[in-house]
Amino acid sequence: MSSSLEEDRRSIREVDDKILRLIKYRLELAKKIGKRKKERDLSTVDLRVEKNVIEEALRLGKEIGLNEEFTEKVMNLLISESLRAQGRLAQGRSGYLYGMFERVQELESQGEKVVKLNVGEPDFQCLPTVKTAAREALGEDKDIKYVSAAGIKELRESIANMIRQKHGLKINPNQVLVTLGGKFAVFSGILASVSELSRVLLIEPYWPVYEECALLAKTRIDYVHTVLENDWRIDFQKIEEAFDAGTKLMILCNPSNPTGKIIPKEELEEIVQLANKRNVTILSDEVYDAYAFSPFTSVLDTACDNFIYVNSFSKKYGMTGWRVGYAISSPQTILRMQKIMQISATCVPEFVQMAAIKALTIDEKTVATFSETMRRRVGIACDALRGLPLAFKKPDGGMYVFPEANYEDFNSNDFALKLLSTQKVAVAPGEAFGDYPRCFRISLGTSEENIKIGIERIGKMLEKWKG
Ligand code: PMP
Repeated sequence: MSSSLEEDRRSIREVDDKILRLIKYRLELAKKIGKRKKERDLSTVDLRVEKNVIEEALRLGKEIGLNEEFTEKVMNLLISESLRAQGRLAQGRSGYLYGMFERVQELESQGEKVVKLNVGEPDFQCLPTVKTAAREALGEDKDIKYVSAAGIKELRESIANMIRQKHGLKINPNQVLVTLGGKFAVFSGILASVSELSRVLLIEPYWPVYEECALLAKTRIDYVHTVLENDWRIDFQKIEEAFDAGTKLMILCNPSNPTGKIIPKEELEEIVQLANKRNVTILSDEVYDAYAFSPFTSVLDTACDNFIYVNSFSKKYGMTGWRVGYAISSPQTILRMQKIMQISATCVPEFVQMAAIKALTIDEKTVATFSETMRRRVGIACDALRGLPLAFKKPDGGMYVFPEANYEDFNSNDFALKLLSTQKVAVAPGEAFGDYPRCFRISLGTSEENIKIGIERIGKMLEKWKG
């Protein structure tokens, strides 16, 4: 009995030996293929090829009696490792964004005055009534204690009511999670939805936080690249290719940071249909919906089966520092996200939530003044940019312009660094948002005067760049 057990164990070790040697051989082959692709100037990732590889493996798996999910996991792991061997796995791009932020802080601490067109923070002040609500909630003899990780009942109900009124969608409070800003809704939404062996789809250019969260979840990331020449339009065929390869979660930023693009209604509906057909969840980050200058359709206005809707009090109510936002999804997904809140931040402070309840009572006309200000700034920025050797699309919404320089050898990171050191103007380099070395992002979260001065100095820098 014991000797046959030993024999079986030895056999397993022999099988492991064979598996590992075969994997090593597979990685060497992948490297060779990578080299050949480079020589022929072909892109490393080819989702159609991947789909065929996975399909063939699934067929074989079925034939020999392997569980389908297991086969898919193994194949995703092997493919990801092959991409790593070919040097094509995402590294994360937030350093471009937050690195610039740190540089500006450093310059300012040395007494320099910087025109900050880099940060995604509007200079709007929240209404005094919101502050009063927080002060009252803090009250002299009130104990400030932990509250529910999901958010206090009154705020979840207020959010559900607001969504019901705005989108005509019946939402239960147990479908609402109150989060530390929209950022935590994105973070917990991604971590609650994907695992090491699933796939996330990002539309380039993207807010780098999505990619960093997906990297943290160790999930495979696929990208659909969009370009200015095509009006930042999303190619449905590319989405289908990615879905064919097994996307679990697709992330949309609507209106977009950094392009300001709003996805037209018909296009959003088509994307939703594709996602529904393939059981893909859409995480729709709509924190900029308060600044929409063209007709805007939310994922909540579509027939999307599986969604995680993200919004925030930061932009709409000028409450960036309060750290309060929310997510809406199925009760099951909300529970998974709530758990992430429980084991990390515990809860959003109660007095902040009381202030948020007050913010929700502010009438739309008052709130619209922020949007009007942003619209005016977009106009001013675009007028100023028109005189420069830059191409851009006028934003439909949001608080950014994402121009592209018409120079062959333009490198936006070098440009942003030189612009900061010589002209004392900060912008975010295009590489922060994907493969966009000729673009940079201008934030309009500052005064009209700063925007004009900043763009004038960008013009000077561009002249020098060419000269
Ligand atoms: N999503 C996007 C696209 C953003 O640009 C930001 C802020 N820069 C957020 C979410 C998060 O904002 P907050 O956490 O302040 O709500």
